[in-house]
Amino acid sequence: MADPKGFLTTPRENAPSRPVFLRLQDWREVYDEFGNERVAKQAGRCMDCGIPFCHQGCPLGNLVPEWNTLVWRDDWRAAAERLHATNNFPEFTGTLCPAPCEAACVLGINQDPVSIKRVEISIVDRAWDEGWITPVRPVARTGKTVAVIGSGPAGLAAAQQLTRAGHDVEVLERADAIGGLLRYGIPEFKMEKSRLDRRLEQMRAEGTVFRTNVNAGVDVTAAELRSSYDAVVLAGGATAWRDLPIPGRGLTGVYQAMEYLPLANKVAAGLLDRSPIDAAGKHVVVIGGGDTGADCVGTAHRQGAASVTQLEIMPKPPSSRPESTPWPTYPMLYRVSSAHEEGGERVYSVSTTEFVGEGHVRALRLTDVRAEGGRFVPVPGTEREIPADLVTLAMGFVGPEKSALLGDLGVDLDDRGNVARGADFQTSVPGVFTAGDMGRGQSLIVWAIAEGRAAAAGVDAYLTGRRVLPRPIAPTDRPLV
Ligand SMILES: Cc1cc2nc3c(=O)[nH]c(=O)nc-3n(C[C@H](O)[C@H](O)[C@H](O)COP(=O)(O)OP(=O)(O)OC[C@H]3O[C@@H](n4cnc5c(N)ncnc54)[C@H](O)[C@@H]3O)c2cc1C
Ligand code: SF4
Repeated sequence: MADPKGFLTTPRENAPSRPVFLRLQDWREVYDEFGNERVAKQAGRCMDCGIPFCHQGCPLGNLVPEWNTLVWRDDWRAAAERLHATNNFPEFTGTLCPAPCEAACVLGINQDPVSIKRVEISIVDRAWDEGWITPVRPVARTGKTVAVIGSGPAGLAAAQQLTRAGHDVEVLERADAIGGLLRYGIPEFKMEKSRLDRRLEQMRAEGTVFRTNVNAGVDVTAAELRSSYDAVVLAGGATAWRDLPIPGRGLTGVYQAMEYLPLANKVAAGLLDRSPIDAAGKHVVVIGGGDTGADCVGTAHRQGAASVTQLEIMPKPPSSRPESTPWPTYPMLYRVSSAHEEGGERVYSVSTTEFVGEGHVRALRLTDVRAEGGRFVPVPGTEREIPADLVTLAMGFVGPEKSALLGDLGVDLDDRGNVARGADFQTSVPGVFTAGDMGRGQSLIVWAIAEGRAAAAGVDAYLTGRRVLPRPIAPTDRPLV
């Protein structure tokens, strides 16, 4: 155990952020320095529970009490080893994860939970600074070849596991850069791309080969994939977006979030001078109250929007844990993300009925709604218009694209339209596996990494017959509810 009295004597401290007026002037991460001594005190709050529910909350089964104790004892190097024992990319989860481990922390029953995410990012940052993270090259090569389609967190985790297991792994990515949503979806202010690039360098040094601008199923046919590689991992994500087919949808100025965010990310990366979809001086409305919507809010503020309004059809969630999501489940709460700290207005229980304009959108017609019999019904007399020069749709994703790749490979889909797989993550086509959002549906980075690791175990067993790689989750595992 770390500090036996830590949870009694030390209050939780949340990660500090840079002042809003400063961070709105750049694209850099919003987080500020915390200091390793303060981190150690936070780690000291961990009770080293007999049954650590933080493990259950985390799909990776992160060894949280172990690294908390090691940080408290000032053995950061050993903490970094334990952290990497279950997670290939702790800096992705340390910056981006909504931390279901903290929602499940036993201390959270009657106090603020341990700042697990803060400890995680501090360990991995220090490990990079100290040079403890180096390439892990395979001890023996198997001569087997694997193609990983898609380079998001699921594909990268699968590729790293399989390369280290001795296979020749090529990652094929249709975009012009590696990283999936980490590269062009999630903004720089949530995770700087240098964190991703540093990992890719490590993976290249280990032997993983990356090929960009390759649309698998088109540039390389399904038949070529099957004949050129001993196994294929489909990790193409759930990129088919949900639309809003209401009057005026064809007006210019109405975009999908994933049309808007990648361009802004390219500006932040210095690849474009100015985004063709820029919010400067505009009244911006974001439809959808989730993470993707918050990313649009933060991006619009950095671009100099005149106003930013985020609309959500669901009612405003409560500020404290509701009875419907008791500990240790992940509660539906009113959360203030870094983007929301920076301004804008959030409107709940509202539905958009029309995009108004002549050629270009000028306003949105809205109505308040209430839930009735599992549907949202308009509240009479609440119809109104709000100004809108730029609208982004952030309403989630409906599953993988039904592309030539899936059709030509002939993989079965499940009843939700995701790629179906068995217990070993193998699809209906022998030797073809799937991991991440493509098989699970829209999810989280921590699940994508867990999926990539587990699918790699399935591939390794298929290619060699051995069962040595970790398999943190089964394809049917779901968050605690
Ligand atoms: C804007 C946004 C913000 C988010 N923020 C968070 C967050 O803060 N925290 C969090 O935990 N989760 C977040 N998520 C969810 C998270 O990013 C995803 O769950 C995760 O990235 C899924 O990983 P993946 O590897 O399965 O797929 P993806 O990251 O979607 O990667 C799939 C890759 O496959 C490529 N691909 C697809 N088809 C082909 C093909 N035929 N040939 C070659 N390449 C192909 C795509 O170009 C893409 O690069 C966010 C999602 C979005 C959209
Ligand atoms: S549940 Fe919380 S207090 Fe218990 S071991 Fe995990 S982090 Fe520590």
